[in-house]
Amino acid sequence: MVNLLAMMGVGLSGLYTALYGIVFQSPPAAGLNAVFTLAYLGYFRVLLRGGLQASRIWITLVFVVQIGVFSLWAFQRESGYHLHVIAGIPFAFLVFPHPERWWRGATVVVLLGIFFAAEWWNPPKLFGDHPRVYARVTYLMVVPVVALLVAVVLQSFLNELHRRDEALQQLAVTDVLTGIANRRGWMERAQVMLAQAQRMGLPASLVMVDIDHFKPVNDRHGHLVGDRLLAAVAQALHDNVRQEDVVGRMGGEEFAVLLWNTRLAEAVRVADHLRARASAVSVPDETGGSIGCSISLGVAEVTLPGEALGRVLARADVALYTAKAAGRNRVFPEPEA
Ligand code: GH3
Ligand code: MG
Ligand code: MG
Repeated sequence: MVNLLAMMGVGLSGLYTALYGIVFQSPPAAGLNAVFTLAYLGYFRVLLRGGLQASRIWITLVFVVQIGVFSLWAFQRESGYHLHVIAGIPFAFLVFPHPERWWRGATVVVLLGIFFAAEWWNPPKLFGDHPRVYARVTYLMVVPVVALLVAVVLQSFLNELHRRDEALQQLAVTDVLTGIANRRGWMERAQVMLAQAQRMGLPASLVMVDIDHFKPVNDRHGHLVGDRLLAAVAQALHDNVRQEDVVGRMGGEEFAVLLWNTRLAEAVRVADHLRARASAVSVPDETGGSIGCSISLGVAEVTLPGEALGRVLARADVALYTAKAAGRNRVFPEPEA
């Protein structure tokens, strides 16, 4: 964002240079302003050579000195040039975000000093007298320039807020350990998918997954290895369904997969494929060996229209329990109604 400010500095300062040179026919004023324009350009050089902090201090100094020189000595107060300090407050907040409050405060104080000095002190004019109309033209330019700077700074804060909001929302629906959707994220996406399936008159099926004898894995190998295995199984589930299916970690070592446009019989085939893929998972254990696991799966077809997700989950859970009771490492569909 400060890069954009520097580019605006180059553009706007260039515009003022053209105004002083071509319209005001004042080569000294245009020449001096051209030096400031080059100094804004120099921001990028300082950024590359001296780093972020140095470049921010550089652009602030250029901005403050330019306003000071032009409002005190070049044009003085009737040009309204000193009103540029109004843009300095949001500028300082953008250039020196928390925790650089000291620089921010100092910038604002110096700018206010320039404002009051311009209001009460009239040193000799640097380039002699200009016709009054020049001061008037400068005055009329200052206000839109300040408005533009303030708008750009506010917009950049809004963009940043929006970016952080999206990142937070993403975090709220993601499981930290496995990187797939957590229960909340799964529920949200599953609801959306079911509503869409219902609109289009398509079937959908739910597969509930539970890792077999996972507690002994933790007990024998420690939680770290358990976590590793959990993440690898989640990855295997995620990698072996289609983009439009919804995979999530429902809690502990339990996962749910909602299959788009899939009837019960097909869902059982998909579930068995997932079972085979999970069996192939292997992660290093604490001794340098490797461990794997098996999973049990229960499958239920969603009864459309409008069955509550909670009811489908409960039915798939019953099927999963049956798979466990039947000896684990297997897929069980709910009994046909
Ligand atoms: P079953 O075949 O009947 O499912 O046996 P199980 O041992 O997998 O079932 P149980 O529900 O008794 O144990 C689940 C275990 O999962 C208990 C808990 O220690 C472990 N677990 C749950 N969440 C995590 C986790 O985030 N990390 C690790 N390492 N283990 C977890
Ligand atoms: Mg288990
Ligand atoms: Mg469990």
